[in-house]
Amino acid sequence: MNLKRLRILQEGKDKIGPVVYWMQRDQRAHDNWALIYAQSKAIEKNTSLFVVFNLVSNFLDATLRQYGFMIKGLQEVEGELCRHNIHFVLTVGDAEIEIPKFLESINASLLIADFNPLKISRGWKKSVADKIDIPFCEVDAHNIVPFHQVSAKQEFAAYTIRTKIHKLLPEFLDELPSLQKMKNNINQVKIEWKKIYDLLNVNKDVKEIDWLIPGEMAAHNILQEFIKNKFTKYATDRNFPTHDAQSNLSPYFHFGHIAPQRVALVIQPLTENEESHKDFLEEMIVRRELSDNFCFFNKNYDSFEGFHPWAQESLNIHRKDKRDYIYDLEEFELAKTHEDLWNAAQLEMVASGKMHGYMRMYWAKKILEWSKSPEEAMKIAIYLNDKYELDGRDPNGYTGIAWSIGGVHDRPWFERAVYGKIRYMNYNGCAKKFDVKKYIQKHLR
Ligand SMILES: Cc1cc2nc3c(=O)[nH]c(=O)nc-3n(C[C@H](O)[C@H](O)[C@H](O)COP(=O)(O)OP(=O)(O)OC[C@H]3O[C@@H](n4cnc5c(N)ncnc54)[C@H](O)[C@@H]3O)c2cc1C
Repeated sequence: MNLKRLRILQEGKDKIGPVVYWMQRDQRAHDNWALIYAQSKAIEKNTSLFVVFNLVSNFLDATLRQYGFMIKGLQEVEGELCRHNIHFVLTVGDAEIEIPKFLESINASLLIADFNPLKISRGWKKSVADKIDIPFCEVDAHNIVPFHQVSAKQEFAAYTIRTKIHKLLPEFLDELPSLQKMKNNINQVKIEWKKIYDLLNVNKDVKEIDWLIPGEMAAHNILQEFIKNKFTKYATDRNFPTHDAQSNLSPYFHFGHIAPQRVALVIQPLTENEESHKDFLEEMIVRRELSDNFCFFNKNYDSFEGFHPWAQESLNIHRKDKRDYIYDLEEFELAKTHEDLWNAAQLEMVASGKMHGYMRMYWAKKILEWSKSPEEAMKIAIYLNDKYELDGRDPNGYTGIAWSIGGVHDRPWFERAVYGKIRYMNYNGCAKKFDVKKYIQKHLR
């Protein structure tokens, strides 16, 4: 592995004992740089390898919908790791308590985690580091160009990060080694997954969905289906909410069921459709890595204070503008606005767990237009996005919402009421672009 993927979080005493990979964001057995590195260290030290996942029973208000998807994916991980003689352990509770306790119980010698720019994960790592004295490092298994290699500051927009990423891609877009079978057989204690569900202290009213199957194998099938049926029309059709041209990979990326690097390696040779090739890799590599950049370098990624000064200033000037409609959280949540298009988008998300990408922009911008203040709009959009989207609680979500409501990574536009210089979208624009009636009929039923 290219050691530029690795970052030392804490030096520590060199001792004998198992190597542990603390799996968080990258919940898969294959194509996982953090696991690949952990395995190489275990083999080098001639010791056993443990993967531990700490289940927090109420993570960022996630519901049964997201927990169900995640737990089923983890069951597959358990099976795959077991086949490779790698222990898989599930702990439940506060990471800062459970992880050190587990490390001590097996007398671990090295801890490796994957990378996540969100505050909550960074907080856990810091608390764990404070409590342990073994070496602790982090491997970016999510981004193709490792996060800390791309940039050391918050990037202004896609155009400022794009060249940096493209310059480094040839170095990092390499083939991933296969997971090896460890030589000593293990006695894997079977996890009682049914009991795990009972431990969850989450909202069970938001039901699991059945149109996407969780897990690593399903993620690869979705990728193949995308290539077979949608890829050629990706460039032309992906922004049409009534056309099924997006990949549907975001839930799998979010839970780490598939590596963006694997997807890029599969897509890379498909150069026949030049536009789709370019556009898809732009979204999946540049835009996605830009979201990580925003969330890591801007601790206010989920609030008004995280917007660029031009946007804050402009929204402040228009704070008192008369709003034609003002809705509260409940009215938004129950899709009780005056507008059928917005209500349809909300219901698409509530029912399916995945709103079309184009509608996400429209949906968030109207929340700005119909809320008391931009702060309130941010809160409502994040709450709903994280509650219903399968891919919610993700850097892409916080960044997409900050783009829509606060002009993050965008530029100032013509000034208008409420929005100030934030880019505006309206119903008529949608009606000119796509078959709004068809979309409404489909989701308002
Ligand atoms: C208000 C708002 C909220 C959003 N919330 C989320 C969210 O919670 N989780 C999430 O993953 N994405 C979010 N996005 C970004 C984007 O809409 C989704 O990633 C995309 O629609 C997911 O569907 P797909 O995988 O089928 O996309 P495809 O079009 O097939 O794209 C492939 C991949 O490229 C990446 N990508 C595509 N568009 C973007 C983008 N605008 N920014 C960053 N990466 C992108 C994603 O990783 C995506 O899976 C949000 C965007 C907005 C405007």
